[in-house]
Amino acid sequence: MKYISTRALAMGGDKTSYSLSQAINQGLAKDGGLLVPAFLPKIDKHLFDHQQSFFSFCEILLQPFFNEDALATHLSSIIKNTFTFEMPLKKIDESSYLLELFHGPTLSFKDVGARFLAACLDVISKQEKTTIMVATSGDTGSAVASAFHNKANIEVIILYPQGKISERQAQQITCWDKNILALAVKGNFDDCQRLVKSAFKDPWWQARSRLNSANSINIGRLLAQMCYYAYTSFQFYHAQQIAPGFIIPTGNLGNALACFWAKAMGFPIREIVLATNSNRSISDYLLTGKYQPRVSVPTLANAMDVGNPSNFERLQYLFKDFEIFKQEVKAISVDDRQITKTIQQVYQKHGAFICPHTATAYFARQQLSEGPWILLATAHAAKFETVNALLPVPLPIPKSLAEMLKRKQNYQEIEACLTALRSHPALG
Ligand SMILES: *Cc1c(COP(=O)(O)O)cnc(C)c1O
Repeated sequence: MKYISTRALAMGGDKTSYSLSQAINQGLAKDGGLLVPAFLPKIDKHLFDHQQSFFSFCEILLQPFFNEDALATHLSSIIKNTFTFEMPLKKIDESSYLLELFHGPTLSFKDVGARFLAACLDVISKQEKTTIMVATSGDTGSAVASAFHNKANIEVIILYPQGKISERQAQQITCWDKNILALAVKGNFDDCQRLVKSAFKDPWWQARSRLNSANSINIGRLLAQMCYYAYTSFQFYHAQQIAPGFIIPTGNLGNALACFWAKAMGFPIREIVLATNSNRSISDYLLTGKYQPRVSVPTLANAMDVGNPSNFERLQYLFKDFEIFKQEVKAISVDDRQITKTIQQVYQKHGAFICPHTATAYFARQQLSEGPWILLATAHAAKFETVNALLPVPLPIPKSLAEMLKRKQNYQEIEACLTALRSHPALG
């Protein structure tokens, strides 16, 4: 498989074909576009069966994407090192299910992409020192820190918007040492993302070490995320003879894009609905046909506070014209009041705790009729103090989180500009 730029066909576009290792290493194409597989292979139904283990299923699924690359011989161990935790599908009611993706070490679905990327880069960076620079609106930072902590030859720089993420999320980002540097940026998430993008274009950074991103612009994360959509839809279809729809809490569109790719490959996915918070760039695009990036507004579902979703360009590349885009993509925007009510209702009705991101999917489910629907639970409720404040009983705290909350915080403050980032003393 070769990987190409989403802008390859544009004037002055980067026409290079990249190997998987290059695509993972590179982050962005030379023209600033995002890397995508040159084609999405149609699935061969005979290769999959419902009795396969999850690991064998993923190996067959991902094998075409690893073809012709040095990482291909490591695929099996990469998968085993990624999926070290369960991802149960639970029934909510007759036509709704919940796919829990938050049982990893830092309690969000970001653990999947981060661990997959760490396993790939562990192989790739044996020869050359690598710097991972990542902007985070909450959960990516901790997932990346946990996945890369103590990896030889890899340095990690995490930029997060100071004061704009939950205290527990901040604690999970800053509780590391050694090869992990946490920078609290005086700005919002879009500032952090802009800083990372400009560092990538900056010759100073390029000369310093091999720079890489672990954001959802990295193709490695997307490939890993395809696994749970493909597997879950396949098993669901086998059991019920009907293709499920997915409702996906969405910010940068990384998680959802993996689902669109799995659908494009032919997995039995009926429909895909994006649940967003009050950041309405995608909903408004669907209404007007004009894409207008915005400044992000803060919400309770802060890991989705994104005004300019970085994977939008990949989605547009997949559905080349607006009419097709509109047919394939549905979006429901959920505001903070609706998120709050939903968290309380789900507790009253089911005695269950859900996080604010997952709540957007629950709310969206109520707006939709026919099922079956699979809602994604993207983070554990205990990561968010805000959930506690809404409910009459304290949230039980999982062991891994309790352990992280006890550790010492370790971070540096920084202004939201490239000069400040370049001259930061901790970078030597
Ligand atoms: C990152 C995140 C999202 C949004 O995922 P994208 O891939 O950015 O769309 C949703 N929920 C949680 C808990 C997250 O951490």
